[in-house]
Parts: sequence; C-alpha cells; structure tokens
Amino acid sequence: MSPAAKGSSSRKRSTKGTGATRAGTTRATKNAAARKPASKKHAAKNPAGRKPAPKKHAAKQPAATNVSTRKTPAKNSTKRSAAKPGSANSRALAEYNRKRDFTRTREPEGSVPAQQGKALQFVIQKHEASHLHYDFRLELDGVMKSWAVPKGPSLDPAVRRLAMEVEDHPISYNSFEGTIPEGQYGGGTVMLWDRGTYDAEDGGGAESLRRGYAKGDLKVTLAGKRLRGAWVLVRMNRPGRPQWLLIKHRDATAGSARDVTAEYTTSVVSRRTMQSIAADREGSKV
Ligand code: MN
Repeated sequence: MSPAAKGSSSRKRSTKGTGATRAGTTRATKNAAARKPASKKHAAKNPAGRKPAPKKHAAKQPAATNVSTRKTPAKNSTKRSAAKPGSANSRALAEYNRKRDFTRTREPEGSVPAQQGKALQFVIQKHEASHLHYDFRLELDGVMKSWAVPKGPSLDPAVRRLAMEVEDHPISYNSFEGTIPEGQYGGGTVMLWDRGTYDAEDGGGAESLRRGYAKGDLKVTLAGKRLRGAWVLVRMNRPGRPQWLLIKHRDATAGSARDVTAEYTTSVVSRRTMQSIAADREGSKV
C-alpha cells in the first residue's frame, strides 16, 4: 500500500466519531431536543452529516436482500414521528426495522402509534440469545427506549447493573413472547418477565423523562408486578454505544437479601418457563 493511500484511509477513519466527540454529542443532543432543527428532514435522512449518495439502481437489486428495507415505511414513519409534538426522534424505529427480516421473525414490525396519552408502559423481557440478558424497556415519545442488562435488575441499592443501550423498539413489542429463529437478529427465546406502568420519579411525566434521558440521569418509578419503586439509569461517559448503569434506589421496595431474577423464573403473563416458551415453535403473542 502506498503511503498516500495509507494516509487517506487513516484520515477517513479518524473523522468518524470517537470518544473525543462524545462529550460534545451530549450537549448537542440536549440542544437538539430543546429546540428542533429547521432542517429536520435533512437531519433525519443524514444523521452522520455525510453519507454516500443513494444507489440509483436499488430497484435492480434482488428482491430477497431487500425485503425488510422495502417493507420499512421510512418516509411515512419519518413524517409521522416528526409531526409528533416533543419528539426529537424523527428516525423512530428505523434501526429496529432494518435489523429484522419480518418475513422470518414473528416480532412485530416497528411503527409509532398515532395516539398517546395513557400511562407510560415499561416491560422487561428475559432474552436467551447468544448470551442471556434482560431487556429493559421504557416507553417515551411513541417508542420503547431499550437497554440490554446482562445480569438483570437487582433490588440491592449497592449493586450497579450494566445496561447497554440498544435500538428503540416499538410499543407493540411489549406483548411479544416467543422465539426468534436462529440466524435472525436476537435469535433465541423471549419471555415477558415483568411489565407495568412507570413515571419519572419526580412525577414530571414525559418532559422530565426526556430531560433525564438527555442528561444521562434517568430517575423512574416502576409499577410492575415484580419490580416496583424508584430506580435510576445513569449513563457512563464511554466511547461507543451508550452504556448505562441500572441501580435500585433506597426505598421500601429495595432489599439486599432478595435475588429477584432467581426468585422469578417464569413469564409474568403466561407463567411459562423459558423451556416451555422455547419448545413452542409456533411462537405467540401474549
Ligand atoms: Mn435482547
């Protein structure tokens, strides 16, 4: 490789986001959430600032490789979510839809419901994929903000559980329990481990939650069947996909003596074990 080629490729790489830009990103995100950019459409289509021009011959590509992207109502969902008051997420669920082939998985296709106004929902799904983890999801602005928690929640306020932020999921995912085919994204068994409603700990609703999420200090009160009371998600300042810590706040529902993930090993909805869900190849929506 010539020195010139080497130089240009490493320069390319260095323009990509690294840890150095992360502190700035937090502030930028905050500002973007506070006042919406005028060029919303532009930002939505081109979040990284620059992207290769769209391929003109997309229509010529074999249908099979294109199924999930063709099915994604990108334009509609952009419009819909952009029209939603207070939503800064104009690309709602694009990543979720892109990662899944809905001709193969029974997971719901992502769309943002038109109406809101009911109590905000939360769900925790026990997910036996390549690695066992618990998916912690909080409804906000028409989607489920989602974190993968490898060890699951702990009721002990002294315990901090790693929670890796993953792509937003559709609200309809809250009733998904079943199997995802091997080879598909997240292939394995999904159990509804807990669900219920939640709010900002200060009772400030979506506005407070948006602020807490942007700040990386998201204090919530859960009203589930198994998890209740005050919890906090704290974002760590690390490069790459955001990593948070899930911590129980000290209150009447805290307890260092209980191991809540060992205590509850069946579905909060169907009462099935992971084994019986896995054995049900038909899959199901509970
Ligand atoms: Mn998962």
